[in-house]
Amino acid sequence: MQVNRRSFFKICAGGMAGTSLALLGFTPLPAAGAIRQYKLLRGRETRNNCTYCSVGCGMLIYSLGDGAKNAVSSIYHIEGDPDHPVSRGSLCPKGAGVLDYIHSKQRLKYPEYRAPGSDRWQRISWEEAFTRIARLMKDDRDANFQIRNAAGVTVNRWLTTGMLCSSAASNETGLLDQKFARALGMLAIDNQARLCHGSTVSALAPTFGRGAMTNNWTDIKNANLILIMGGNPAEAHPVGFKWVTEAKIRNGAKVVVVDPRFNRSAAMADLYAPIRAGSDAAFLMGVVNYLLTYEHVQWEYVRNFTNAVLIVSENYAFDEGLFSGYDAATRQYDKTGWQYERDEQGHARRDDSLSHPRCVLNLLKTHASRYTPELVHRICGTSQEDFLQICQLLAETSVADRTASILYALGWTHHSNGSQIIRAAAIVQLLLGNIGMMGGGINALRGHSNVQGFTDLGLLSQSLPGYLTLPSEKQTTLESYLQQVTPGGILPDQVNYWQNTPKFFVSLMKSFYGDRAQKENSWGFDWLPKWDKNYDCLTQAEMMTQGKLNGYLIQGFNPLAAFPDKNKAIRAFSTLKYMVVIDPLSTETASFWQRHDEFNDVDPAAIQTEVFRLPSSCFAEEEGAVANSSRCLQWHWAAAEPPGEALHDGRILGNIFLRLRELYRREGGTAPEPLLAMNWDYSDPWSPAPEEVARENNGKALADIVDAEGRVILKKGQQINSFAELRDDGTTACACWIYAGSWTESGNQMARRDNADPSGLGAVNGWAWAWPLNRRILYNRASADAQGKAWDPRRPLLEWNGQRWQGLDVPDYPVTAPPQQKIGPFIMLPDGMGHLFALDKLSDGPFPEHYEPMESPIGTNPLHPAVVYSPVARLFKADAAALGRADRFPCVATTYSITELFRHWTKHALLNAIAQPEQFVEIGAELAAEKGIKAGDWVRVSSKRGYIKAKAVVTKRLRRLPIDGKMVDTIGIPCHWGFEGSAKKGFLANTLTPSVGDANSQTPEYKAFLVNVERI
Ligand code: SF4
Repeated sequence: MQVNRRSFFKICAGGMAGTSLALLGFTPLPAAGAIRQYKLLRGRETRNNCTYCSVGCGMLIYSLGDGAKNAVSSIYHIEGDPDHPVSRGSLCPKGAGVLDYIHSKQRLKYPEYRAPGSDRWQRISWEEAFTRIARLMKDDRDANFQIRNAAGVTVNRWLTTGMLCSSAASNETGLLDQKFARALGMLAIDNQARLCHGSTVSALAPTFGRGAMTNNWTDIKNANLILIMGGNPAEAHPVGFKWVTEAKIRNGAKVVVVDPRFNRSAAMADLYAPIRAGSDAAFLMGVVNYLLTYEHVQWEYVRNFTNAVLIVSENYAFDEGLFSGYDAATRQYDKTGWQYERDEQGHARRDDSLSHPRCVLNLLKTHASRYTPELVHRICGTSQEDFLQICQLLAETSVADRTASILYALGWTHHSNGSQIIRAAAIVQLLLGNIGMMGGGINALRGHSNVQGFTDLGLLSQSLPGYLTLPSEKQTTLESYLQQVTPGGILPDQVNYWQNTPKFFVSLMKSFYGDRAQKENSWGFDWLPKWDKNYDCLTQAEMMTQGKLNGYLIQGFNPLAAFPDKNKAIRAFSTLKYMVVIDPLSTETASFWQRHDEFNDVDPAAIQTEVFRLPSSCFAEEEGAVANSSRCLQWHWAAAEPPGEALHDGRILGNIFLRLRELYRREGGTAPEPLLAMNWDYSDPWSPAPEEVARENNGKALADIVDAEGRVILKKGQQINSFAELRDDGTTACACWIYAGSWTESGNQMARRDNADPSGLGAVNGWAWAWPLNRRILYNRASADAQGKAWDPRRPLLEWNGQRWQGLDVPDYPVTAPPQQKIGPFIMLPDGMGHLFALDKLSDGPFPEHYEPMESPIGTNPLHPAVVYSPVARLFKADAAALGRADRFPCVATTYSITELFRHWTKHALLNAIAQPEQFVEIGAELAAEKGIKAGDWVRVSSKRGYIKAKAVVTKRLRRLPIDGKMVDTIGIPCHWGFEGSAKKGFLANTLTPSVGDANSQTPEYKAFLVNVERI
């Protein structure tokens, strides 16, 4: 008896008779789709990490192809890695759709060229692309390179071509970027960090010593209270958010959300309080005032571990919105008065009784006293009741055995006073004794998967790897540079770890220039470009509009969608002679010259820029390390080759670099020395291997290294184990000193996969490797009291055992220094103390102050009406003219991300594009009713700079708030759509945003600006 499958199942559906037929052997004929092996059976499994956000979830990538030479692999399945200690097998909607990103129709497969004035792309060969790009770069460099400045100082800089670096490529690509750009003398280099977490570094480094997330993802579960403000991790870092829910479930933690929108994090919170976008500094300074007024302070911690007791110079003052030293003509402060008062030995004076009127604590008390609950309500719109309840909850963690964790992201960084918002939160945590503690910290939730790594590697205008500063033209010699950037002691007997700067810098020079760097030539100091000012990306756009930038290299970055004021970006890019875009995807930036109706209303014939679109690999096709938000460097492997003719970033850089060198060797030209001096002696210099570059990041001994007793601790050629082994005599080379220890003689520490958590407290120290030296919680000495006993015996992170510090983490402290030595726990700061007063390290003041966003709905500052806005915020004249006022643009707008989409990448992934196909804006129910807008209506949202059109989502999540006696509405603008991708075409949200930036980080203000909304 023969039956086909369909009739067999019909028979089976009839009951027992059918089942018996099967038992008798009358099974159906095999159907093509029926005999299917388990789909992962033939696959090759490759470990990788999600390329989107900085949770860094583990992924298992399955590909076909046995890895044999010339066999082409094809990735067909991706799932969460169940071994990963943070993600534990989970992926959010972005990560779950990543296969569609890898196979996106918008993946670039071959190099393309757009001729000046043309309206189309044309396919070209790699050879043609590399040859033409090298020619354009050399001609521009030869014509514009400055060997000396007007004062005759050697500056070796090339200012007319800029470079934007990736935030998702590996650290190894990052180091190649750094060497490539500095060898050519570029100063106009920047990366995504400028546009997202730049303010984090500006705020946290002067406060604690390092500009990074203090704790880590898994540690969040140890918190007793979690304050989420300036971020929405349930939506933007969904898998990381699981540790918030762990804290709730297992630790009974309370979760508080303060945000302009009742967002998905708020939906999980015990308490939600609305706040006006752009007023966070006032709220947090209100908390500071509350804690100090009611003495909810961890006094022992504050006295021993913060600079509360130090006395400030009498030249410091604050009056009516201005700190001492303000110069209205330059819009800058002279910060010389923002210092401690010094004694005869040059040490800071102190008053342990805290009674001196100019001790830091009393100055802070006075400064914060203006931020009463009434004032907070007036500026923020938050009810006093909600505000006081939050203060009380935070106050409960001022005891030794309770901690609060603060989570934030771009909702704090994207403001013209973003650094000071974060500073205010840091002050709250210092007063509560929550830094260095398990379950505590200021947890900057980084966005892009490797924006931490690209910041670590110094891909910013004035930086070098490891947060070293690039020399300026005022530092005319190595000695003057080192003398100025190496901090002296402020208090006796402190670690002041940056005093080792000469060792880090000389080791970097040896890594950069090898044998060519010798003591006699100051280790090649002159070859580095010297800056005269910051060439951050706001400056770059301004330079372009003035015709001062000719070329632009853009790697894994979409500045047309990311720069503030998209129309200004179009004007800027249109002045370039050449643009080189290296990206896996077709981006709006590469197509900026292309007309896309209203979405990109340009005339290609009028744009004379030559554009190259070079296809690069994506994360799944490359090997290397990425640093997640917890500073954890995770190594990943390639699961396939890039599609078509696409190449790895390193191979693209290597080809341009070597061709330029060849041109200089053949033709000569301006200042070939810095370019020829840079070390590029890889086994395959055309395509440097990630392992080789990773070892270079770690550093090695160039001679036998001996310790203080003369014992050889490293043989010549061996990888160093720690930055403590670095020398300033040229016997060590290290490209990024904070990465020392990541690839030692024991192998690649970043590839470790021990997910054991023996304490059950989330200390998974065997997984990958975290900088510095695999420390998982920064400043962990502060988790124990002055005598070295853990503040909280249930969470003993680190304790003094009579001989050494030991515990669950690598001590962030000299291991054998006894507590009686009174070394401060903040070892990167000269005084070892957490800084309530930031001295002269910020451009806009040693204490935080509330300033209105540059576009303010109230047009005044209730604290000081004469100083409404940050007096030192980054603002170019032309941009000032493009600022709107509340009479025409009465609503506050704030941009944000949604779970299904990641910035402007996931609209290229079909699954995500299906999930969120169309642009929308969110409008509060009261405003919508007044304007006659219903859900699903088309609306036009306009600012002084342009307009977008989108579908209206009418919601009660955005409340109308009373601000300084006026009712203010907020519009929510998700920023994910554009004119390229698989989703429906949409407007770039940055069409609306103003070109203004934080005074310290120049990070633009995307989170609070003025718009009008109309139904269309
Ligand atoms: S986007 Fe972030 S949370 Fe989502 S899977 Fe990727 S790394 Fe994890």
